[in-house]
Amino acid sequence: MIGEIDKPDVLQKLRDIRSVIDELPIVTQTQYRFWKWMASYYMSTIGEVMHVAMPAGLKLNSETKLIVRKETDSYKIDLNEKEFILAEAISIQEELSISQVQDILDQKTVYPVIKSLLDKGILYIKEELKQSFKAKTEEFVSLTKEYLDDKNKLSEALDLCSRSEKQTRALLAYIDLSRKEQWVPKSLIYRIADIDNSIIKALHKKGIFIVEEREVSRIGTQDISAQQNAPLNPYQEKAFREIKSHFESLDHVLLFGVTGSGKTRLYIELIKEYIEKGMQVLYLLPEIALTTQIVERLTHVFEGDIGVYHSKMNNNERVELWNASLNGKSLILGARSSLFLPFSNLGLIIIDEEHDASYKQSDPAPRYNARDAALYLSTLTGAKVLMGSATPSLSTYLNAKNGKYGLVKLLERHGEAVLPEMKIIDIREKYKKGLMASIFSNDLKDAIKNSLNKGEQILLFQNRRGYAPTLQCRTCDFHAGCPNCDVSLTLHQVFNELRCHYCGYRHKLPEECPQCGSRDLNKLGFGTEKIEQEIQGQFPQASVRRMDYDTAKTKSAYEKILNNFRAGEIDILVGTQMITKGLDFDNISVVGILNADSLLFFPDFTANERAFQLITQVAGRAGRKEKKGTVMIQTFNPLHPVIVETRNYNYAQFYRRELSERKHFLYPPFFRMIRITIRHKQFKAAEDAAVLFANKLRAHIGNRLVGPTVPGIARLRGFYQQQITIKMEKDKNVVIQVKKLILEERDKLLELQGKKSIRFSIDVDP
Ligand SMILES: [Zn+2]
Ligand SMILES: [Zn+2]
Repeated sequence: MIGEIDKPDVLQKLRDIRSVIDELPIVTQTQYRFWKWMASYYMSTIGEVMHVAMPAGLKLNSETKLIVRKETDSYKIDLNEKEFILAEAISIQEELSISQVQDILDQKTVYPVIKSLLDKGILYIKEELKQSFKAKTEEFVSLTKEYLDDKNKLSEALDLCSRSEKQTRALLAYIDLSRKEQWVPKSLIYRIADIDNSIIKALHKKGIFIVEEREVSRIGTQDISAQQNAPLNPYQEKAFREIKSHFESLDHVLLFGVTGSGKTRLYIELIKEYIEKGMQVLYLLPEIALTTQIVERLTHVFEGDIGVYHSKMNNNERVELWNASLNGKSLILGARSSLFLPFSNLGLIIIDEEHDASYKQSDPAPRYNARDAALYLSTLTGAKVLMGSATPSLSTYLNAKNGKYGLVKLLERHGEAVLPEMKIIDIREKYKKGLMASIFSNDLKDAIKNSLNKGEQILLFQNRRGYAPTLQCRTCDFHAGCPNCDVSLTLHQVFNELRCHYCGYRHKLPEECPQCGSRDLNKLGFGTEKIEQEIQGQFPQASVRRMDYDTAKTKSAYEKILNNFRAGEIDILVGTQMITKGLDFDNISVVGILNADSLLFFPDFTANERAFQLITQVAGRAGRKEKKGTVMIQTFNPLHPVIVETRNYNYAQFYRRELSERKHFLYPPFFRMIRITIRHKQFKAAEDAAVLFANKLRAHIGNRLVGPTVPGIARLRGFYQQQITIKMEKDKNVVIQVKKLILEERDKLLELQGKKSIRFSIDVDP
């Protein structure tokens, strides 16, 4: 490894070097410094950092499975004896683990042989995840050969459908759109001619149209080029100049831009400049799988210059991109793990949606926040960082306000678009007056009806999946709970099951109460499944779909819903947070938030911030281009400050109020926080350890420590939990001391009699 060993006693245990696997280091000096910082900042080991940082293909372990390539006859030429034996053995056995290879070669050191065979392309590492980031396809329409070859026959085609106004419209739309390109996306015809699939089918039956699945990179190119080539609007122009002028004196800039203001457009302009200077750009996204549209847009502009790095890639692709990055690939797009790539000349990091909670790795260690880690990486590499958000996190916003980061605001929507109108629906009042016959208020129902009549689309948001979050017995008050966790089981009607969303436990939906045998079971609350079912009942003619973890678990399932929505085949889309990301369509006129309260009363100091961000993000999906959208928020607490601030788009008020509360209660971003969770299968063991540990620490740090307390979920996956929270002043020396103390006391505790099985997890900046 690179770097020095700082503990002399380690030297005693070192062995001689037998062989060198890689001729050149695969980890750069900068990466190693980054790893060391991360281990120390997030209180993990450097091994844990290495584990998340390196693609499996670069860190073989004894369980790694090796396979021979199918087309391998030519390999026999340039192999030495051992390589040959191994290649033969693997091709006979189909796959071998590294420990089996050790047996076959009868030697412990097998990595050089394997490495050489991997390099020669004879072996490869078996992939766990097969899915790759493929270009997506969509259906395209063309005239059949008969009409295509002879333009005069077009009038015959028009005659053929003269009795149907819709068919005529569809055909004319095609003729118009096909002037540039023979194949026209079906979705475009839907939109222009205002028709649906039955019309295309009819034209297909008449032998006029053919429909074919084609790669999407071709589709939308007209749209996208127009977007990309249009000059920046005056607001964007101004923001762009401001970003660049901040970069002259500051390394970090926050672009605070409302949804629909064209942040991506500015990123693209900036990326172009850095690439022209010969520098690399890293574009971070919270969840790569959910951002198909951005990937498409960037691919269109930068074509071969772009590499996409994410957790669904297989090993070979990851290793390939790792090497490409080292060789100076100009633009890399990725989720948080792409921070660990070996950049050779990083000039710019873009952190899109910098506030997003997905940037935080919650488990396993290192529990890092990719935004914060990126900022540190930039100090190592000299790169500039542009953070973008419509709802910046409080910590970023505070830094920008204090002048530590440059602050650029883009508060105008692009083009003619205006921000949607926000309507708060007081459902407590409606329940009181007996006006809530279902989970939809009349106001929301009317808006939906209106929107359907105009052929516009509707999003309904609820932050819970499943049918109902709780199954309760009306006779004895029994609640169906998870046997492994302290949570109630969610009812999934579709699967006819009760499921735990924390540990995956499943149970067949009981017909009677397991406690008293009563059949009077109550499905308490509602999730996306129930909304889907009820809204379909209310609007039987509408096409309703659901997008949540259950229906869009894979990337292709997700994209299918997205494509159907884009093509106008879905009228009403019901979904969880998934619908808040990457859905940038022009035809959404109504967004309904069915129960804002479930967002507001979350037991964590970040609840208000999250609720504000989520509501604003969901609302931002409504209305684009010239149409003004409507957002309807159903709540029992219409006067809750977050609801009021969201409704009025009063960002300034939100940040002012929330920051003053955080300051008053000694929370981040004014104070630093470390959360320690102690777990054990026995309640008493967890509690005893937590009390002992807390007392030890408290002796040194006093009331900076709070706890131990039992967290919201007292038992998780069979482990009882105890929590200790440390809040301390933002003083570097204090923080270093406290971290050191925590690790020392933890290690001491684990050495005590009977405490070995206690589990600690430490979360810095939770
Ligand atoms: Zn019962
Ligand atoms: Zn569970």
